[in-house]
Amino acid sequence: MNRDTARRRLSPPVTHRLVRPFLQPARLLAGAIIAGFLAVSSAAHADRSDRATPAGPAATQHHRASPTGVTEREIVVIDGFYYIVPAPWAGNKIEAPALSSDSFRQVPAELTYNRTNIYVHSIALPPLLAMLDRAREDGVELLVESGYRSERYQRTIFKRMMAQGRIFTDIIRYVAPPGYSQHALGTAVDFHPSNWRFADTRAYAWLQENAAAFSFKETYSRSNKRNMPWEAWHWNYCGK
Ligand SMILES: [Zn+2]
Repeated sequence: MNRDTARRRLSPPVTHRLVRPFLQPARLLAGAIIAGFLAVSSAAHADRSDRATPAGPAATQHHRASPTGVTEREIVVIDGFYYIVPAPWAGNKIEAPALSSDSFRQVPAELTYNRTNIYVHSIALPPLLAMLDRAREDGVELLVESGYRSERYQRTIFKRMMAQGRIFTDIIRYVAPPGYSQHALGTAVDFHPSNWRFADTRAYAWLQENAAAFSFKETYSRSNKRNMPWEAWHWNYCGK
């Protein structure tokens, strides 16, 4: 089975498929029909050669790109293709300011998982270090697995996964669409292991007790108001 066949077989519902920005404001009905056609057509032809079509100037408009029926919805652009952002991400876009490299400081390697180069916003590092110190005093080891990730990097993750044959609606089950990750703020960290096992660790219990004293919050808690999936490992510095 070649990749194109696999894509077709795994295709999600048409409403979440990519839609090209061809629609004109005055032709909503025709636009909807065309969108439906393109979505089906794209499902059948979404291979690498099809992606050579650029989105044009509108590619820089990540969100509510134009006043047409389709683009009322939130969209992201990856490799020149538009993807409609579904729930639970829709409505949860993160407006990250443009940050220069001197806004960041590196987390000491010994506090990271696998001694990786991880950066956080300079305002978040002192409280993070203080929190990790306190945890260690309490006999709890917290290792940082991820910190700042730019929107551009988030897009790179998608491109890489798509090149491996994964489709958008599948990837967003595990990865925030570009522009929807709190990691773009530089204040959020993921602790190791950054998966569902973290919820069963002493480290998680310790954070629930103590993180607030250091102004860190579990953004996507078990019953978060945003209706986002629970991410026990993801904590964000919220300032004082
Ligand atoms: Zn995270």
